[in-house]
Amino acid sequence: MAYPQWIEVDGITKKPIECNFEDRGDQEVDAVVLHYTAGASALSSWKWFNTPKSSASAHFIVDRDGSILQCVPLDMKAYHVGRDANLAGSKSANSKSIGIEISNFGLLVTYKKQLCTIDDKEFIPYDSAKYGEPVYGAIALGDPTPQHILDGEQPAAFFEGYWEPYKPAQILSVHKLVRLLREGIEEIASSKILGHSDIALPLGRKQDPGPLWDWFGMFALLGIPYDVGLKNHKSVSFIGCEAVTNVRSAMLNSPDLLALTENKTSELPPKSDT
Ligand SMILES: [Zn+2]
Repeated sequence: MAYPQWIEVDGITKKPIECNFEDRGDQEVDAVVLHYTAGASALSSWKWFNTPKSSASAHFIVDRDGSILQCVPLDMKAYHVGRDANLAGSKSANSKSIGIEISNFGLLVTYKKQLCTIDDKEFIPYDSAKYGEPVYGAIALGDPTPQHILDGEQPAAFFEGYWEPYKPAQILSVHKLVRLLREGIEEIASSKILGHSDIALPLGRKQDPGPLWDWFGMFALLGIPYDVGLKNHKSVSFIGCEAVTNVRSAMLNSPDLLALTENKTSELPPKSDT
């Protein structure tokens, strides 16, 4: 395995955790799995990952402002998917993948007629001013990705409700990170950029990164054909969602994104054998 253990570029802070990771054994990385944290700041998620009893971790946490923490070196396996997760037939999903957690509450719950998040069994009213207007969305589940979804039609509703929107700076950072990883680790297949919901078993046990994650926009920006990118997707974004397409159009015109797509290799991390 010849790739850097830590990605040293602007915007990514090395912040190692002390538990909840282990050797990959003889497994090679060929997949990236996206999650949402269901939590507040990246730092609060980092603290949870750094707690032995959580048995949870990921290589990266992307905060709402786009800043990224790297918690686990790439040559180590993090605990971001459960033991029962299936990665295209492999039962070693953690050993073969890199986990990216995106700070986001995901599906909000309704308690006393208010949209809330849950923290340690406590209902906390969702703060729209701080986290953005919640957006109505749903996930469709199906295997394989049906043609009508690829054709742009709306899926049948599943996991319907209000979700925290992803932030443009954060989306851009995830794109940038996935691009860096694919440039550094050639084995990451286009068809194995997945969501936790795609590989958690039984299907439907996990919803992250949820309907507001724009897979179609992401694959377009990474230059991956939709049918290849979505090959292993069992969960499909609510692609008709106006908020998602609005963010996508805003991003397509952002100078940051134009710079990123024009400048494919300048920020490659150095490869190393250590
Ligand atoms: Zn997850």
